[in-house]
Amino acid sequence: MSVEHKRRALITGASSGIGKATALAFAKAGIDIALVSRSVDKLTAVATAAEQVGVTAKVYGVDLACVDQVQSKIQAIASEFGDIDILVNNAGIGYTNDLKDTPLHDWQQVLDLNITSVFQCTMGLLPAMRTKGVGTVINVSSVAGKQAFPGWGAYSVSKAGLIAFSQALAQEERAHGIRVTAICPGAVNTELWDTQTVNANLNRSRMLTPEIVAQSILNVALLPQQAAIDELTIMPSAGVL
Ligand code: NDP
Repeated sequence: MSVEHKRRALITGASSGIGKATALAFAKAGIDIALVSRSVDKLTAVATAAEQVGVTAKVYGVDLACVDQVQSKIQAIASEFGDIDILVNNAGIGYTNDLKDTPLHDWQQVLDLNITSVFQCTMGLLPAMRTKGVGTVINVSSVAGKQAFPGWGAYSVSKAGLIAFSQALAQEERAHGIRVTAICPGAVNTELWDTQTVNANLNRSRMLTPEIVAQSILNVALLPQQAAIDELTIMPSAGVL
């Protein structure tokens, strides 16, 4: 009898919104999950729900904005949890401000979390993926990375940078069995729209749900190894809101 390989994923920003929905979708698909964000209590609630469907779910409190510590912390998580096959770089902050009103400190915060932490999380797992000759990296970018919106300058720059990062990484790692996807959702109804750094008033009922985006992330992860989706744009059918 063949023993089926047990898949393991690490999901950042798994305490709410798209990351939480992705964690639960992965669990239902039988994928063990390492859950990363700052809020250990919220992560624990997600892990408890995930374990009810029979997978292993572990919680790791990490502030990904402390970018100089991220690579070693992610490496340590993989050592404890086991080799990671699928990395979902989802943690991020929304940020609205005209560029002329964007303090350097805010600019750096957005870029640190939305792109530099993704670079460092990926570097934490890439050597092991290289050794195994297999791996999937899914980066949650945004339609704002493909099309800049006024008032969303720093955010758009971070998400455009993430698309470029994904493209470069995909090309560098393809020959080593590692697939890289940039997911670019339009507006998704999550807590991001309630955060202090976002000032926008859109119709939340017309947005995508986090569960819809999670399903597309799962679909990308479950693609047969000989296929890769480099970029996936998923929009509310109502269009850009
Ligand atoms: P949420 O605000 O619901 O979730 C954000 C997640 O990121 C939380 O789990 C939060 O966890 C985590 N996070 C924030 N800061 C840090 C930090 N310093 N260290 C570790 N984790 C952190 O938003 P969404 O689910 O909407 O956002 C998820 C991703 O989707 C983001 O990258 C966002 O840019 C992207 N996106 C969102 C869209 C939308 O319309 N909502 C559209 C397109 C893309 P905690 O607070 O526990 O640390």
